[in-house]
Amino acid sequence: MATATTPYTEKTDEQKAICEMVHQFADEQIIPNAEHYDHEDEFPEPIVEQMKELGLFGVTIPEEYGGMGLDLTTYAMIVEELSRGWISISGIVNTHFIGSYLLMKFGTDEQKHKYLPRMATGEIRAAFSLSEPELGSDVAAIKTAAKKVDSTGDRPAEYEINGTKMWVTNGLRSSVVFVLVRTDPGAEPKHRGLTCFIAEKEPGVAQNTGDYQGFNVPPQIKKLGYKGVESTELVFDGYRTPADSILGGEEAGLNRGFAQMMDALELGRVNVAARGVGIAQRALELALKYSQERRAFGKPIAEHQAIQFKLADMATQVEAARLLTQRAARLKDAGERSDIEAGMAKLFASEAGRFCVEESFRIHGGYGYSKEYEIERLYRDAPLLLIGEGTSEIQRMVIGRKLLQRHKI
Ligand SMILES: Cc1cc2nc3c(=O)[nH]c(=O)nc-3n(C[C@H](O)[C@H](O)[C@H](O)COP(=O)(O)OP(=O)(O)OC[C@H]3O[C@@H](n4cnc5c(N)ncnc54)[C@H](O)[C@@H]3O)c2cc1C
Repeated sequence: MATATTPYTEKTDEQKAICEMVHQFADEQIIPNAEHYDHEDEFPEPIVEQMKELGLFGVTIPEEYGGMGLDLTTYAMIVEELSRGWISISGIVNTHFIGSYLLMKFGTDEQKHKYLPRMATGEIRAAFSLSEPELGSDVAAIKTAAKKVDSTGDRPAEYEINGTKMWVTNGLRSSVVFVLVRTDPGAEPKHRGLTCFIAEKEPGVAQNTGDYQGFNVPPQIKKLGYKGVESTELVFDGYRTPADSILGGEEAGLNRGFAQMMDALELGRVNVAARGVGIAQRALELALKYSQERRAFGKPIAEHQAIQFKLADMATQVEAARLLTQRAARLKDAGERSDIEAGMAKLFASEAGRFCVEESFRIHGGYGYSKEYEIERLYRDAPLLLIGEGTSEIQRMVIGRKLLQRHKI
């Protein structure tokens, strides 16, 4: 029966079919294998190969380029299911998804034709890089710089990039990196002097040579959680890239990178929010199961009211986080303003992820501290969501600032 308002969680038949497929994929392929890849900190190549076959690298890429042409709302549902399995898997598609969005929204026709068909199949994968060793939240302070160099012989006009980037997810195995660098050192305000380049390299190669010389990838950073997917520095040392590798072309894209990346980050926030929902959902499932199996004081711990209250709080957080995430995605899909909503979804769902994982961990008692139990991995994975795509403090700043803009008196 139709309700007065359409619930945000209502799915179309297509969305239901895709979510069921990804849910099953997570149950059968991701969850049983995550422990191994997490423990070894090994890239889950066989899982990624299957994701390519399922078309998961081209979910939002238009059909004319070989993708599925689905919207952000459906993508968020898929990310929730993947993250319910293991957030590192969603990390492998996330930066790729942001890269394809940047191309679809700002790329030239030539750039779209060059990359999107191979990105849709997962043949090449994308990373995106804003952060540097000395900055993350303060994007406008980026120091890595690109300078136009005189073209020699028959080479087209080029830019030379120098500097170091930090925390690049998929930094080693990607073939293209959407990298934000400074092209106008004197720009005021500073964010007006930044440009996004589509920097190419050999995937899996630490020291690039030939056309990609000067693009180096140091060994991956060792992390608390979020294992299996690599996070690396990128060192640009005299790396040369054609002027037409500027996102949108030199004329339209030079010094426009900040706005392009901020637009993409709004999408990235919905994506991280969906990850928060996925990990919170899994933590709840584990708590529901464990609390009915474990007995204390003569009955299953689920029959103690204190445990039921924890389950109730967790389930409420999961639902609220899912609603906020779906709402932000639907507004963005409808072309409506969604900056506050994406910030709220990211803030709430990432904190809900941390909360639910910690509550589930408590319900597991001593076993939660053991590597034999899945909740131990979730406990190490969840904090990342508080940091990536803008910390909780930065989300509050964005929400607060935008609220005052919308309600100026
Ligand atoms: C595993 C992992 C993967 C990542 N992947 C990527 C990636 O693929 N690409 C990429 O570009 N980046 C990536 N990042 C980087 C991430 O986006 C940054 O870590 C994040 O933006 C925070 O920046 P920071 O670490 O420099 O912290 P800082 O900006 O130094 O902040 C430190 C603390 O100060 C607070 N703070 C900063 N400014 C303010 C302020 N004005 N008011 C109040 N509090 C403030 C922050 O909230 C935080 O608590 C990744 C990070 C991790 C850990």
